[in-house]
Amino acid sequence: MIIAGPCSAETREQTLETCVRLAETGVVDMLRAGVWKPRTSPGTFEGVGLKGLAWMAEAKRLTGLPIGVEVASKSHVEAALEFEVDCVWIGARTTVSPFAVQEIAEALAGSGVSVLVKNPMNPDIDLWAGAVKRFMAVGIPAEDIGLIHRGFSYFGQSKYRNAPMWPLAFEMRSRFPEMMMICDPSHMAGSTEWLHELSQAAADLRYDGLIVESHCNPAEALSDAGQQVVPGEFERLIRGVNWRREAVDDPEFQRALSRYRDEIDQIDAELFSLLGRRMRVSESIGRVKKENDVAILQSNRWGSIKERVLGQSERLGLSREFLAEILEAIHVESINRQNSVMN
Ligand code: PEP
Ligand code: MN
Repeated sequence: MIIAGPCSAETREQTLETCVRLAETGVVDMLRAGVWKPRTSPGTFEGVGLKGLAWMAEAKRLTGLPIGVEVASKSHVEAALEFEVDCVWIGARTTVSPFAVQEIAEALAGSGVSVLVKNPMNPDIDLWAGAVKRFMAVGIPAEDIGLIHRGFSYFGQSKYRNAPMWPLAFEMRSRFPEMMMICDPSHMAGSTEWLHELSQAAADLRYDGLIVESHCNPAEALSDAGQQVVPGEFERLIRGVNWRREAVDDPEFQRALSRYRDEIDQIDAELFSLLGRRMRVSESIGRVKKENDVAILQSNRWGSIKERVLGQSERLGLSREFLAEILEAIHVESINRQNSVMN
């Protein structure tokens, strides 16, 4: 399922030109545009409202493609239904609000229009799942509900505008296995630079599709200018994604795969047994510290462990970020184990 269109419908010309050129690529299944824009900061472009719905309805007539818009309230849903949209999506800033989601669900019930629920801004899986359950609870069938993974707002430095945190999306998928899950590389990336790698990652992780922002003149876009591509570039992006097969019957492939899997299982067994051993040593340290009434956290020691391990990053062929993350998890567990011995 490939959904494409501008972040926002801005003018009739921009909406129609973008949508027609997207339809001509032949790789689009549905057109999108935001007509009400929930913006982080006031004073920025907040959408054209109803006019935009009329332009999208016109794009639908011109291209024969179904259309989708973002809704954030009951009145948005009513207007969208009036203009015969085929799909609505719930934006990341709306999924966080149970009142808003409930009101939207009730307005949408029985309409037959499908709904795509974007992940909430913050990495809270229950909030995302809760929003989905509100749509199910008003009787919208699972096949009319889909999930959009657009990444999570993240405090600190990150390569992307919104951190993917892929495991959260896998968890969501296992909670709702019957629902379509598509990836939004545009809002994840925040820049055209990472669209390809994120789209390919989604294909490799067996997502069911992509929703991508495209604009006929991205440099002049009134919202999300940095992440939108022209329709031609969008077509190259989509054609460049390799949706690999899930499996093949070839016995040679099966043998090779199972050999490597055995090797991985063996390595995992050793890895976790070593971690168990390390934690038992941490407990012994806890006992010695307790006998001598010494504090758990010895920051010099921790600093030197970190320096030593991170210094081996190149030799190990593991990134410093990955090593730092593993070390941090080990350190936290080690402190917990010492704490359980000492207190
Ligand atoms: C959008 O799709 O234009 C949008 C506002 O996305 P998100 O809710 O993911 O920020
Ligand atoms: Mn956008």
